[in-house]
Amino acid sequence: MNELSFPSGLLALTFGVVVGSFVNVLIHRLPLMVMQAHEAAPESEVGLDICQPASHCPNCHTPLRAWHLLPLLSYVWLKGRCNFCQHPIGVIYPLIETVTGLLWLACAWRWGLTPSALSWACFATSLLALSVIDWQTTLLPDALTQTLLWTGLIASSMRWIALPLDEAVWGAAVGYTSLWLVAFVFEQITHQEGMGAGDFKLFAALGAWLGPVPLIPLVFLASMSGMLVGIALKARGQLHEGRYVPFGPFLAMAAGLLVVFGPNTALQWLGL
Ligand SMILES: [Zn+2]
Repeated sequence: MNELSFPSGLLALTFGVVVGSFVNVLIHRLPLMVMQAHEAAPESEVGLDICQPASHCPNCHTPLRAWHLLPLLSYVWLKGRCNFCQHPIGVIYPLIETVTGLLWLACAWRWGLTPSALSWACFATSLLALSVIDWQTTLLPDALTQTLLWTGLIASSMRWIALPLDEAVWGAAVGYTSLWLVAFVFEQITHQEGMGAGDFKLFAALGAWLGPVPLIPLVFLASMSGMLVGIALKARGQLHEGRYVPFGPFLAMAAGLLVVFGPNTALQWLGL
């Protein structure tokens, strides 16, 4: 742990909150862009990308002014309602900004204001965005999974993270191949698709950041927690027939636990 001074902590928190408002844009727009590429996007959203059109109210479509876009502050200032039509603004927006801010603060606290902290903050932010997108749409956009994989390899080669480069490369390869193999065998036996290619790419990316060995406790933790949540949702009648619980959020959560507690502690939890 580092002694984190108050100004440094405030800087990390503020920066994280600002990044969080960009995460909101990604969460809303990336799935629509993926659907567009497959010509499945709603007609009103055709031609959208990350920058175009400018942010607008989803209800009255009035473009927002600069002071409506201040992370967290605007939400508080506008009392959670659109300035033009008074339509409530989803609580997810300030929530994502707050969580991202806290993740950046936690990384600064753990690693100080260093490239390591920046690397892990980007890692955590990407996983947050991927989890929410997967939970809402069962999509894991390549734009995020592939970027996460390459940045893991680069962070390792630059020594920004403690993982040696050969382990990062093996982690990525083993991650992709192992989940692909599981899905292939599952499909041969049940003639059902169990996992999407997005899950393989996410697991490859996690391998690039964590190395091949921690992927073992990671996949155990993710499967077990995913299964428990699936059973709970089914018991409460919230999981409809033919729908499945997306795997991405559980992979992301397990990866977060491994970064915080280390793979050895995770193996102990599992009694291995
Ligand atoms: Zn409005």
